[in-house]
Amino acid sequence: MKVIVYPGSFDPITNGHLQIAKEALKSFDKVILLVANNNNKKERFTNLERYEMVKGAVEGIEGLEAARTDGMTVDFLKKEGTCYLLRGIRNNLDMKYEEDYAKQIHAMDKSVEFVYIASSEEYSSISSTSIHEMALAKKDIDKYVPKSVVERYKKAVRS
Ligand code: ADP
Repeated sequence: MKVIVYPGSFDPITNGHLQIAKEALKSFDKVILLVANNNNKKERFTNLERYEMVKGAVEGIEGLEAARTDGMTVDFLKKEGTCYLLRGIRNNLDMKYEEDYAKQIHAMDKSVEFVYIASSEEYSSISSTSIHEMALAKKDIDKYVPKSVVERYKKAVRS
């Protein structure tokens, strides 16, 4: 079985992330969305909360799976017995960022093979940050995120 790991903050997961994962299913049997911690970013949701939103988002989609780690992505890849790592590209800024990210990963494990998928125009302007800002401003986010994220924001507002 051909497995690829898609690591990210997913803070929160958006339809843009999901589109990349679904696209990868054309070449891989299983895509694992791995909720990881990015030390360079101040996280809005805990690792568990982010994981729960991802889990809800992939429910019922054959071939997509959710996982979480507080450890290193390279260790997770080894545990899954795969060398394939998936990332999404929206624009030039992402490309620059991904270049640095790939260097960091390769410094830890040279055997990792990166697979990049470009976002379709429809999703290229969606970011976790813009979704978060819209949600805080009480704007409608339903079009841009899975249901699990909409529900999570409703909870956050309630409490
Ligand atoms: P990280 O903190 O590891 O960058 P993110 O959740 O921000 O985690 O992003 C994970 C990956 O998904 C990155 O490769 C990012 O470029 C990509 N990505 C994020 N949003 C989109 C989108 N709307 N379309 C395509 N790729 C995206």
